[in-house]
Amino acid sequence: MADASHSSARPRLAARRPIRSGTALALALCLAGIVALVSFPRIERFFQRDAAEQAAATLSLTVEGLTGALNRYAPLPALVAERPELAQLLREPTNAALIDQVNESLRQTAYSLSASDVYLLDISGHTLAASNYRKTLSFVGRSFAYRPYFTQALDGGLGRFFALGTTSGERGYFYAAPVEEDQRITGVVAVKFTVDSFEETWRAGPATVLVSDLRGVVFMSDREDWHFRALRPLTPQARAGIEAARQYPLSEVTPLPTERSALGGGAELWTIEDPGTPSAGYVAQTTRIAEAGWDVTVLVSTGPARQQALQMVAIGTLLTLLLALAVTIYLQRRAQQLALMAAQTAARAELEARVIQRTTDLNEANAQLQQEVVERRQAEQQLRKTQAELVQAGKLAALGQMSAALSHEFNQPLAAVKSYAENAATFLERDRPQEARENVGRISALTDRMAEISKHLRNFARRPQDAVDRVQLAPVIHDALAVMQARIKHAEAEIRYTPPAAPVWVRGGHVRLQQVVVNLLSNALDATAETEAPVITLEVTQSGEQAVLSVCDTGPGIAPGAEETLFDPFFTTKGPGGGLGLGLSISYNIVRDFGGTLSAHNREGSGAEFRLTLACCPDPEGPST
Ligand code: ADP
Repeated sequence: MADASHSSARPRLAARRPIRSGTALALALCLAGIVALVSFPRIERFFQRDAAEQAAATLSLTVEGLTGALNRYAPLPALVAERPELAQLLREPTNAALIDQVNESLRQTAYSLSASDVYLLDISGHTLAASNYRKTLSFVGRSFAYRPYFTQALDGGLGRFFALGTTSGERGYFYAAPVEEDQRITGVVAVKFTVDSFEETWRAGPATVLVSDLRGVVFMSDREDWHFRALRPLTPQARAGIEAARQYPLSEVTPLPTERSALGGGAELWTIEDPGTPSAGYVAQTTRIAEAGWDVTVLVSTGPARQQALQMVAIGTLLTLLLALAVTIYLQRRAQQLALMAAQTAARAELEARVIQRTTDLNEANAQLQQEVVERRQAEQQLRKTQAELVQAGKLAALGQMSAALSHEFNQPLAAVKSYAENAATFLERDRPQEARENVGRISALTDRMAEISKHLRNFARRPQDAVDRVQLAPVIHDALAVMQARIKHAEAEIRYTPPAAPVWVRGGHVRLQQVVVNLLSNALDATAETEAPVITLEVTQSGEQAVLSVCDTGPGIAPGAEETLFDPFFTTKGPGGGLGLGLSISYNIVRDFGGTLSAHNREGSGAEFRLTLACCPDPEGPST
């Protein structure tokens, strides 16, 4: 139940995360939009100020160029007016030769001064001679009394005026100076310069330049369509003045609607709504050339500033979005990590709980096992005790089996002893001590032999005290054969045995191993009881770490079906009183205790072979020589 609630909580958590990051992204978008909207006008204003600085630089260059030209041209009419032939012509206005001479001199002067026109007016404003005398639209014979520069010069000053040439139709700047003779003004010299070259220069620049007069009428600009346009509405007096001086063609003086706002630092923002063209924004810098009565304005389009501001805001917005995206990704990853950590913590807790549970189970199982081990040990002890008792019983049984043979073994020497003793007595009676001594010696030898047999039997019958240690195989076999000697002799069996040339040390205990060999010999004798000329072969072989004692007989072999139960306790094929069925079972356990094996099989020809395999031990006295 707990697991189910966990798994249902996790997807809910995962589903909530994308919503949260989506909201964050939307918020970031809104924020970026607001920041862009708020910051755009300021950034645009910054770039406009930048443009204003550029405009100011252009303006100062433009004004410098204009004032330089004005100052250069201003003294020229006065210089020309000092020529004596002009005064002479004013005195003799009908002197045709003089007119020709002055005309030509004025033409050359105009050429050398790069002036548009140089001409001489009499006191009434009538043109007596002009540099353009050859041209169709020559000034000669025309009156310019209406021009302010004429009246200014007549007043004795420097006349200056800007106007559209009434004859030439060319815009120009006019300078005029009086011709004086005897302190009297007799005429006026006027010099006209065109302004096209300035406009040409401005056109090449990035900014738009416009020069307006004090009435606000634009008379110079690289924008031709703005020529004679009025930046502010003209008053009736202004219109009358223009008309009287024939300064500009009034029909062309149309308004150029201009909205202005301050930008700071002396700069202005102009929006020009010229009918027929789209409205255009400019950063404007204006300065006045006071002596000429001109306002010079440099206009720089606000387009690039807007463009730059837009780019900057776009980059800023993009960066903000990228940042927001990065933050969102970071938050998302963090949330995922936290979720993962939480899941891991939960999993760890679960694991720990399981480990605790498993540990408890294991502890219980361990306690149970320990209990079982104790019980097994007790059972094993009990078993060993029983086994030892059985071994003893088995041995006693073997002794019992041997009793007939033993009694024969003892009776025969006893009978011999008796006859030797009787013989000795007879020899003593007959005073033949030598023969008597020989018989006594035989008696002694026979008693030694009987003592030997009884010693072996005693050793075999006693309970084994030896621990598992190393033991030499040959003495064990020798002692076993000695114990069985009486039975072997009684059964008239032939023992074929060649003791090993070198001592073979094996893991085991002398008495117990002897009991195993006695059992095997005893079984072989039992098996060959009905066999004629029985042969029992003992062979010791050593291969590597193992030594093998094989006991073969010429009996009928292991009974069919008995192979599997041969080593079971109480399995016997011998009739009542024949055997307990314990010999092989006990032998098997003894050999197993020594870490060895005991196996049985029938041989090719006839008879059984029992193989006792034991682990070899190193010779404690070193290899024999
Ligand atoms: P027991 O000798 O008292 O019968 P053992 O455990 O020594 O008990 O032997 C069990 C049985 O194994 C024997 O009854 C016999 O059938 C069989 N057996 C043992 N040794 C031989 C042998 N050398 N040849 C044939 N059968 C044998």
